[in-house]
Amino acid sequence: MNIPRLHHGVAATLALALATAPAALAHPSEDDPATAHFLANEAILVSAGETRILFDPLFSVSYGYPLVAPDVRAAIMAGTPPYDGVDAVFVSHVHGDHFDAGAVNAYLAAHPDVILVGPWQARLDMQAADGWNDAFEARIQALPFIASPQDLVLAADGVEGAIRVETVHIPHAGGPGRAGIQNMAHRVTLNGAATVMHLGDATPEPAIYETHSDHFAARTTQHAFPPYWLLGEWGGETTRQRLNADAATGIHIPIQQPDWLDASGEDFFTEAGEERGVHGHDDE
Ligand SMILES: [Zn+2]
Ligand SMILES: [Zn+2]
Repeated sequence: MNIPRLHHGVAATLALALATAPAALAHPSEDDPATAHFLANEAILVSAGETRILFDPLFSVSYGYPLVAPDVRAAIMAGTPPYDGVDAVFVSHVHGDHFDAGAVNAYLAAHPDVILVGPWQARLDMQAADGWNDAFEARIQALPFIASPQDLVLAADGVEGAIRVETVHIPHAGGPGRAGIQNMAHRVTLNGAATVMHLGDATPEPAIYETHSDHFAARTTQHAFPPYWLLGEWGGETTRQRLNADAATGIHIPIQQPDWLDASGEDFFTEAGEERGVHGHDDE
């Protein structure tokens, strides 16, 4: 009986602290936990209170992977729920199963408050695509193609620092032939509370993760969304250790699902509309 009482005491202290905390914590986190909502391939909507971000949402080429359903694509473009109030769109890399430069231009034109965060190559492609507008420049965080981690702090809904971005270049899977593609692993913390990681098509070669071990150690990710081949090649435990993540849900599942997925016991986003809570540990 002591433990529940202690727990309540801690909760009351926390509640007092929250009540006097600055505006950033006005975004609810306990009553309105962060969630990740799966669209298709590597497209995910992450919501935490009023803060909403999209990863790799606008792409038009299948390459054997599911496309975002036309009605979902239309809802994103129109900004109808749950795609209203999106604060930032993240691009991992410019392959056609992750990114459509013309569609992203159209999206930025339709949503003048949205920030785009992505590789420098994404802006280059957008500038060359239909619908480019020089006015987008001010809303694009084009990350240079460098090895070292890059940090950004973005405001959302008028709250300074609501979105904290820590991104590192992790080479694309597939070896030297893909070395020219700027694949970015974004670690994003929403409202100082919920940290997620999206890795694009990151290589399973372990050496690069060792090179960046300080980056991964610097902040625990509550929920990582690695390409499924990391879980396949490393297993869940090693994946979570390497990424310093409490939980991992694999993405980029082919239409023809590999047989080992089910047998692996790991977690994957396979069906559009699936959701996961973003929290450190299952307390139930
Ligand atoms: Zn790719
Ligand atoms: Zn891909």
